[in-house]
Amino acid sequence: MTKLRFEGGVGSIGSSKVMVEDGGFRVLLDLGDAIPGERGLLMAPVVSRPGSELRDRLRVREAPAIEHLYRREAVGEVGPEGGGDGRTALFLSHCHIDHVGLIGWVADDVPIYGSAETVRMLDALEAAGEPLEGGPHHVQVLGEDQPIQVGPMTVVRHAVDHDVEGASGYSVHTTQGTVAYSGDLRLHGRHPELTERFARRVRGAAALVIEGTTLSGDPSAPMRDEPAVDRLFAEALAQTPGLVLMSLYPRDIERVRAFLQLARGAHRRILWPEPMARFLAAYGVVGVETYLPQRSPAEVSHDPAGFVIQIAMESLADILDLPLGPGSLFLHANGEPLGPFQPSWQLLQNWLRFLDVPFRSIGTSGHAAPDDLHHLVAEAAPATVYPLHTADPFRLLPPPGTVRILPRYGREYPLAPALGRGSEQDAGAGPK
Ligand SMILES: [Zn+2]
Ligand SMILES: [Zn+2]
Repeated sequence: MTKLRFEGGVGSIGSSKVMVEDGGFRVLLDLGDAIPGERGLLMAPVVSRPGSELRDRLRVREAPAIEHLYRREAVGEVGPEGGGDGRTALFLSHCHIDHVGLIGWVADDVPIYGSAETVRMLDALEAAGEPLEGGPHHVQVLGEDQPIQVGPMTVVRHAVDHDVEGASGYSVHTTQGTVAYSGDLRLHGRHPELTERFARRVRGAAALVIEGTTLSGDPSAPMRDEPAVDRLFAEALAQTPGLVLMSLYPRDIERVRAFLQLARGAHRRILWPEPMARFLAAYGVVGVETYLPQRSPAEVSHDPAGFVIQIAMESLADILDLPLGPGSLFLHANGEPLGPFQPSWQLLQNWLRFLDVPFRSIGTSGHAAPDDLHHLVAEAAPATVYPLHTADPFRLLPPPGTVRILPRYGREYPLAPALGRGSEQDAGAGPK
């Protein structure tokens, strides 16, 4: 019997964890942490006790109590059994904290797979002094054309478009039919064809687990595409007489590269906080310059229109030395603070108001718009659809012939074979 279980991402944005079990073998899809600022009891300023981090997380249910997944010494005497069982493998959709945040705790004998870009990003974060909680990762590269066997299951990785390179969805072919998992995806990015191809490749799956981040928003609000973000950035650089500050999410490497090029075209240099510059250089981005110590406040003050300065909240006081005021501009392009749900959002607004710097939002979501989610589900035409990674799963409206199931935390869902929608499975009992 094939079973699905949801260990995270249920009724909340992020922290996805989906367990697929077949014949005593287990495929775990993602092992994310809650988004900073949204986490529950262990939220700043409270920190886990050194040496007891995973135990504390397990105790307050901020890590799932999955047997034979974590390193033995990290779980200790209480909690689930540590160490691998030779029957479990973990697959990562992409390198965002809500999908990979807990993988530093995974036992060395539990294999972990992800795209080459995901591995490169994890390596770059470690090299830049931003390691994962728990310890170094041991993720192996899984090619798209490289199906892998986990007991009776075959797992295939599919590239999708998201706001991080190497984002992937998966097909888990089980003895009872296929479970498809979207990871995070969108159709308004630079590679919509990848996301469309994913939907076609999983067509007729017995179950599709799909993210639904944007379902909570206004369904009629238009979604800006990435070329529009580039255009807004270029316009802002051209029209601002003074210094431009920005907050761009550094893991969105494609946008980093696009902005570097646009800034060069506008005769401005982007200066990065040192930790971000180390990460970008370690990932392989060329031409990355830092503000301090590479450039001095005097140098920037001499030619404010020649620079764009990326901020980091922890070193925000550095901007006190810069020539800022009404002739300058702050551009928010999906960097930290990510949004009003983070306490530092208001803090940033207070700083900008104090310094008289106008604020403009030019980013776009990494997640498919509601209409696009509905289009993708219709294309995939699964027997059942499970909306995950959303606060409002009931807003996902399935097409005729697809049964929507609102997942509940920790409950087991038997996989029902697809009912004649291109699946090779025999028609059987309907979804439970
Ligand atoms: Zn996510
Ligand atoms: Zn993501």
